Amino acid sequence: MKTALALILAGMMFVTVSAENSFAASKTNRITFNYKKPDDPKHQFIYNGLTERRVFEKIQEFLSPFKLPNKVEYVLEGCDGSEDVIYEDNTITFCYEFIDRLYKNMPKKVTPAGIAPIDTIIGPFFDTALHEFAHALFDMFYVPILGREEDAADQVAAYIYLQLGREEARRLIYGTAYNYLINSANADDAAETKEEFREDFAESHSTPEQRAFNLLCIAYGADQEFFAEIVTGGYLPKERAEVCQEEYEQLVDAYAELILPHVDEDMADDIFDRTWLRKASDFKKAPAAK
Ligand SMILES: [Zn+2]
Repeated sequence: MKTALALILAGMMFVTVSAENSFAASKTNRITFNYKKPDDPKHQFIYNGLTERRVFEKIQEFLSPFKLPNKVEYVLEGCDGSEDVIYEDNTITFCYEFIDRLYKNMPKKVTPAGIAPIDTIIGPFFDTALHEFAHALFDMFYVPILGREEDAADQVAAYIYLQLGREEARRLIYGTAYNYLINSANADDAAETKEEFREDFAESHSTPEQRAFNLLCIAYGADQEFFAEIVTGGYLPKERAEVCQEEYEQLVDAYAELILPHVDEDMADDIFDRTWLRKASDFKKAPAAK
């Protein structure tokens, strides 16, 4: 019996040690990027906007505290009409068409909920950058996931948002929620036939409305005072709001257990303390999609 137990313990130790060894090469500053020129001249304004504002450089710096075994590259490139963002083999590809869609959905002026037009671009862009990065983390660290990976990736993105200053988090969260809701309200995208409804509900991602509600719920759960208007303004039904604090706490625990060991916490404190967004009013001359 004793020998068997000793063997089992030795085996367990071996598993722990080898898991640590496989992450031994993990280090900070692992993000690279590549702005590929657009094939479609209509997308030149996106190339100019992203390179002038050094968007990938900012993401590179923002994600520098993560200790990764591999590099993760952000790429901007044309996708022959597909409005997509793709994660594959440590590469996150933003299609020009995806960003073009954000510009097309951008409201002309500040919305009744107080969302500045530019935040409907920055929010979903940043949210997607983090969502795809979460997939990379899950893969690299063999993160065990209960529930659907797409929902878990949304949660990691929401958690990271909430580490920023509250005002910045608010702009990003509202901008992202706006984009989910406008996409589902968009006549071109809305399901009309029974078959289309079936396909929407069978998607590996939650529906855009659910993703908006989930994000608002996490924010409200994190800070019910600061984000009180999410409920008082009627953006999230009260019945759901009641469980948001619990949902947020569950997320905090899971992140602490599964992701935080792969973060240089001193670097992260410094990064999250900074101001990352320019004032929305600085973007008055944001180029419009043609
Ligand atoms: Zn995903």
